Amino acid sequence: MKRVYMMILVLIAIGCQNSPAKKDKPDVVILATGGTIAGAAASGTQSAYTSGAVTIDAMLKAVPGIEKLANIKGEQISNVGSQDMSFDIMLKVAKRCNQLLSGSNVDGIVITHGTDTMEETAYFLNLTVKSDKPVVMVGSMRPSTAVSADGPLNLYNAVAVAADPKAKGRGVLVVMNDQIHAAHSLTKTSTTSVQTFMSPLRGVVGVTAYGKDDWYNNPPWTHTSKSEFDISNVTKLPRVDIIFADADMEPDLIDASVKAGAKGIVIAGVGNGNMNKVSVDAAAAAVKQGVVVVRSSRVATGMVDRNVEVDDDKLGFIASDELNPQKSRILLSLALLKGDKPAQIQELFRTY
Ligand code: GLU
Repeated sequence: MKRVYMMILVLIAIGCQNSPAKKDKPDVVILATGGTIAGAAASGTQSAYTSGAVTIDAMLKAVPGIEKLANIKGEQISNVGSQDMSFDIMLKVAKRCNQLLSGSNVDGIVITHGTDTMEETAYFLNLTVKSDKPVVMVGSMRPSTAVSADGPLNLYNAVAVAADPKAKGRGVLVVMNDQIHAAHSLTKTSTTSVQTFMSPLRGVVGVTAYGKDDWYNNPPWTHTSKSEFDISNVTKLPRVDIIFADADMEPDLIDASVKAGAKGIVIAGVGNGNMNKVSVDAAAAAVKQGVVVVRSSRVATGMVDRNVEVDDDKLGFIASDELNPQKSRILLSLALLKGDKPAQIQELFRTY
């Protein structure tokens, strides 16, 4: 009997040695890029301010209790207002995410970013980060010095989501004003309100309140670890322009874009991706010169379908499906690295 007890004790001891040490908290890295969340004004009630003036260390100090959610490390990637976000910085962020997430010592990433172009970077990372671990973007509408600044709680919630195992496999997420949005579907809808982000067609992925998350759905689009886009050796993206359509639009904007060397053009069309006849002719001429033309819409909600009022099959255009013009530009830029066949690119717009 004594011998059996001894053997059990030895087996337990061996088991303990072989199982990896349990972490007290998840490891989360914050990559800071700038934006209003890092903005500062001369007073708490002034609307004029400078984006990207505060460092990540100062931002973390303004969030009491954040250290209880995760072991946090901060890295400053850039410090710009997101109107100055560039493909260079996006590539840098994507490559750093891939480097960090490939190791076992990082469980999730939070990216602080301005809200103006948050949806572009979120969608770019959704296509280029090769991991199922949570990647969560966060910003704020009020600068860090404002009365009722929204940045600190947004940052607290974003770290909680990045540390939540249930956030895995949902693609890149954006956490703002207690809501969790999918990169594919969110868009900025107000120039100034703290409730600016909405996902008009698909709704939110979940909600978060003081670090407690509630999950509603999984984004249905292909993303991150299942994405076919690989930017590990990419340093530059092909030129893609967005042209805004309106009543009596001038078609020579399309000609100018082709002349300037665009490889792709996204039309922010009226209604279901429409434009006037002269512009359809200019876009068809662009296709004949090897430029890929995508019809998206300037309308805030709804999809753009093929062959509704425009004969895409005949003219060689692509319909953007649910992607708005700014996200269509991201997908088309990455797609053009792989080829320029309209049928294949159309399939990418259905998949991603
Ligand atoms: N232009 C700023 C930016 O995008 C303002 C928006 C914000 O961060 O809230 O960085």
